[in-house]
Amino acid sequence: MRKVYFDHSATTPTAPEVASLMVEYMTTHYGNPSSVHSFGRETKKALIKARAQVAELIGANPLEILFTSGGTEADNIAIRGVAKANKKRGNHIITTQIEHHAVLHACEALEKEGFRVTYVPVDEYARVNPKDIEDAICDDTILISVMFANNEVGTLQPIKEIGKIAKEHGIYFHTDAVQAVGNYPIDVNEYGIDLLTMSAHKFHGPKGVGALYIRKGVKIRPISFGGAQERTLRPGTENIPGIIGLGKAAEIAKAELEGKMAHLQRLRDRLITGIQERIDEAKLNGHPTERMPGNVNFSFRYIEGEALLLNLDLRGIAGSSGSACTSGSLDPSHVLLAMGMTHEIAHGSLRLSLGRDNTDEDVDYCLEVLPEIVARLRSMSPLYNGNKEA
Ligand SMILES: *Cc1c(COP(=O)(O)O)cnc(C)c1O
Repeated sequence: MRKVYFDHSATTPTAPEVASLMVEYMTTHYGNPSSVHSFGRETKKALIKARAQVAELIGANPLEILFTSGGTEADNIAIRGVAKANKKRGNHIITTQIEHHAVLHACEALEKEGFRVTYVPVDEYARVNPKDIEDAICDDTILISVMFANNEVGTLQPIKEIGKIAKEHGIYFHTDAVQAVGNYPIDVNEYGIDLLTMSAHKFHGPKGVGALYIRKGVKIRPISFGGAQERTLRPGTENIPGIIGLGKAAEIAKAELEGKMAHLQRLRDRLITGIQERIDEAKLNGHPTERMPGNVNFSFRYIEGEALLLNLDLRGIAGSSGSACTSGSLDPSHVLLAMGMTHEIAHGSLRLSLGRDNTDEDVDYCLEVLPEIVARLRSMSPLYNGNKEA
């Protein structure tokens, strides 16, 4: 059976060049970068190179890059670290209703510790209005955190405008750019970003490693304690194979970015148009144009997303409903609800996220299989049949 992987927003395959380089840093170059001997020095050199590769991808200075165990930890260090360090200036944080749980739950934890958090709403396309961010600013606001691109519906946020507002008010601006880094061009200076989260496994690097960009001069405190690694902000022996893998993935992503985006956009638009032509009452979720090149997200009326996923899986197609982090729970997606969808429609959503190795044949296969499955599921749905009789 044909196998089609359409779940690149959940994770991507590690590039073979990345994987083989990582093996070298497990078996041959295994020194601890804090050691003074040649084994340690060799690894230290590779660590410095990886920092430069990552910095290069987002237009940063290598000294502004902090390696972490992934996107989740980077979000936590950014939000909790800035909150703790700037408590004297204020205790108010602004974020949005559609953030990843790594941001939302970190903010909720801070609320329990006495911080105030404003969760700004979004429009029907999951886009934040910069004016709503500005209106939420108080005298005691210390941090604004708005994601670069949403992981479920792919909507790109007005980051430049928000960066400008943050700067005008002297407030730090963090963005969870996990979906965008390596898949969309980002320059931290152009966008006015003070802190930025990235994760290697969303752009063909390994799982369990990421980075936080922290602009020089930002006041931040450690949230965990140990050795002096990563300027004490992320203590513990560095995940050298992971970090080397992240560096290599960043280098490859930079070189491939333009071609990859064009390829993904073309496949994405074929898939969207094809679905709209073949399936009625299919609603495209997210912004029609301001969306990630590889993101397709639809709601099919009268159908449960879970049923759709299982049936697609039986035909070899891997997609997702909601996001990977919430699948398994039957709660409708907080993102779709924030976009104003009813629970019924929110339950029927399907995300197909494309990657660099997907082909036109993958799209053709999906366009052949998906309409059949939707038609069959609808024929069994009392809601659909009731509607047709009425
Ligand atoms: C995947 C993802 C994360 C979590 O990153 P991990 O490296 O898996 O911890 C955070 N934010 C967004 C937007 C994501 O898509």
